[in-house]
Amino acid sequence: MKLHEYQSKQIFAKYGIPVPKGRVAATAKEARAIAEELGGRVVVKAQVLVGGRGKAGGVRLAKDPKEAEEVASAILGMEIKGLPVRKVLVDPAANIEHEIYLGITNDRAARRPVFMASAAGGVDIEEVARTTPEKIIKVHIDPLLGLRDYQANDIALGIDLPREYWKQFGDICRGLYRAYTECDATLAEINPLVILKEKSLSALDGKMLLDDNALFRHPDLAEMRDVDEEAPAETEARKHDLSFIKLDGNIGCMVNGAGLAMTTMDIVKLYGGEPANFLDIGGGASAEKVAAALRIILSDKNVKAILFNVFGGITRCDEVAKGILAALAEVKPNIPMVVRLVGTNAEEGRKLLADAKMITAETLAEAAQKAVAAAKAAA
Ligand code: GDP
Ligand code: MN
Repeated sequence: MKLHEYQSKQIFAKYGIPVPKGRVAATAKEARAIAEELGGRVVVKAQVLVGGRGKAGGVRLAKDPKEAEEVASAILGMEIKGLPVRKVLVDPAANIEHEIYLGITNDRAARRPVFMASAAGGVDIEEVARTTPEKIIKVHIDPLLGLRDYQANDIALGIDLPREYWKQFGDICRGLYRAYTECDATLAEINPLVILKEKSLSALDGKMLLDDNALFRHPDLAEMRDVDEEAPAETEARKHDLSFIKLDGNIGCMVNGAGLAMTTMDIVKLYGGEPANFLDIGGGASAEKVAAALRIILSDKNVKAILFNVFGGITRCDEVAKGILAALAEVKPNIPMVVRLVGTNAEEGRKLLADAKMITAETLAEAAQKAVAAAKAAA
């Protein structure tokens, strides 16, 4: 789950990280009122769950409340990378001397969290990572020991941070590490962390990604989810406890088990097709869940064929077949569907589907080839 900038910064503040004291507005009038309260120049920032808002014109300075209202009105009418802007953050404007990047994420290969930092922070950090990766330093953290003081100093040294800021920087690193671990985050990032002309540090932008599988431990964080900003298919999938990821291809895939789902996508590609999604209906899926999954797949207009690949272990093939039939009765799609059912109650499942005009296949290779051919014919 992605958090908005303002939500991430609220969390950072709880962990002692200095952040600008702004507030969120849903209308231009509210933005003006906040600017009046704050006094002086403000920065108005689009709250959308994508990066690169600055470059897209979603971060703008305003010299007074009147201008804040105008700027907010313009930003609230924008779409950034396809996402409509529904809220803006109004922060007091910062006098920036220097922009630093500071982030922490999980390094799977190293099996531990890793701090990343760069003196070349700001809106071009992706470019820095691509062209001059040596400008990003990395420090791995032993999860049992946590962040040690010497490591925070190593990071400060690595980005040539002037000595006078080391103490404050160390506190920010410790706060960020605690926020990351205690919230079960997969990313906690400050970009930019700025050195202000006033000679102190401030986290001007914040981004956090939370581990969905740990959200049950954080009801307060789970509440922060902004469903307005999510693809409807993903909201729907979560509601039914389905692991769904939308992709760009045209072959919808419904599979039980994450490994089998990935294999199915690979084989579709091997035969020259492109999967429209990753979908794992899970072990022991009910007819109702299968129906929900089918509705989600069919809500994607790119889908030209559907491939069902079900290996019945705990999942019963007849249950899956019932789900397919229930969904077909409801949505009545007119696209080709290829089905491969093997394992527990496969025979019963196939019988149920016999009248449903589906293309059947015995092996996964055969199923994938038929799905690719059907999608090509339909496209
Ligand atoms: P992003 O583009 O989505 O990462 O949005 P950011 O919040 O990082 O803002 C982008 C850039 O806008 C920052 O790197 C800064 O250069 C600039 N910016 C943001 N807030 C302020 C501010 O208060 N004052 C000034 N002068 N620039 C700001
Ligand atoms: Mn940023």
